[in-house]
Amino acid sequence: MPVLGLGVWQVPAGAVARRAVLEAFKVGYRHVDTAKLYGNEADVGIAVRESGLARDDVFVTTKLWNSDHGTESALRAGRESLKRLGLDAIDLYLIHWPVPRLRGESWDALIRLKEDGVARSIGVSNYTVRHLEEMRKTSGVVPAVNQVEFNPFLFQRDLLEYCVAHGILLEAYSPLMKGRRLDDPTISGVAKAHGRTPAQIVLRWALQHDVAVIPKSVRPERIRENCRLFDFALSADQMRALDGLDERRHTSWNPDEIE
Ligand code: NDP
Repeated sequence: MPVLGLGVWQVPAGAVARRAVLEAFKVGYRHVDTAKLYGNEADVGIAVRESGLARDDVFVTTKLWNSDHGTESALRAGRESLKRLGLDAIDLYLIHWPVPRLRGESWDALIRLKEDGVARSIGVSNYTVRHLEEMRKTSGVVPAVNQVEFNPFLFQRDLLEYCVAHGILLEAYSPLMKGRRLDDPTISGVAKAHGRTPAQIVLRWALQHDVAVIPKSVRPERIRENCRLFDFALSADQMRALDGLDERRHTSWNPDEIE
C-alpha cells in the first residue's frame, strides 16, 4: 500500500471529488481513501478510470459503514461498494468502526469478500488494542491495516507498538489535525528549520513513525504541498519534540469506550 494517500471525507460528490482525485494522481499520489459514508465512491472510481493510470498502480480503500454490519449485510455492502467504484476489486476494505456485538460476524464476512476477490486486502478502523486483542483471540486472520486518528496531539504510541508487533500497518487519519493546529509553535519551529510547511512536518513525523498518512484537501496547491514529503527528514530531537505534543485528545470520535 502506498504510504501516502488522498483522504476524501467531506469532499463533495461530483466534479469536486473527481477533480481532487485527478489532481492528486497528477502530482504523484497513487492511493485514495474513501468510504460508503463519504458518498463519493463512484467519483473516485471515475477518476481512477479517467486518470489513464494502470489499474495496478492505483490503490483504493473503502469502508463498511456501521449500519451494514452483520454477515449478510456486510457481504452485500462490500459488493455494492465495489459496484459503485466500478473497479475490478477493492484494494483495501475496512470495517469503519468497531460496532459492538456485530463486528466479529462482519470480520468473517470481510474474510469471505477477500476469498471471493471482492477485496484484495481487508482491515479495520478505529480499533483500540482491546478490539484488536479480541480479534486475535477469535479470528485466525490478522487485519492488514488499522486506520485511526493519529497526529502529534494524539500520538497513540501503545497502539502503534501493538500494531508493529502484530504485523498490522497503522494508518493515520486526520493527520493534519483537520488543519486546526498547524500554527502550533513547536511545529512551526521545525517547519522553519527545514524551510517546509507545518502540514509537511506533521505528515513527515507520522511517516517516520512508519505510519501511513491520508491527508485530505480539495485545493490543488495543498494537494501538491501534502505530497512533498520524501526529500527531507526530521532529526531524532525534532521527532521527540513533536512526540511531546501528545494530549491524547481525539478530534473525531473516540473508540476507547466502545465495548
Ligand atoms: P486532515 O487532518 O487531513 O485535515 C483536512 C483539513 O485540513 C481540511 O480542512 C483541509 O482543507 C485542511 N488542509 C489540508 N491540507 C492543508 C495544508 N497543507 N495546510 C493547511 N490546511 C490544510 O483531516 P481529515 O479528518 O479529513 O482526515 C483525512 C482523511 O482521513 C479523511 O479525508 C478520510 O479519508 C480519513 N478519515 C477517516 C476516519 C475514520 O473513521 N476511518 C475519520 C476521519 C477521517 P482544504 O480541503 O480546504 O484544503
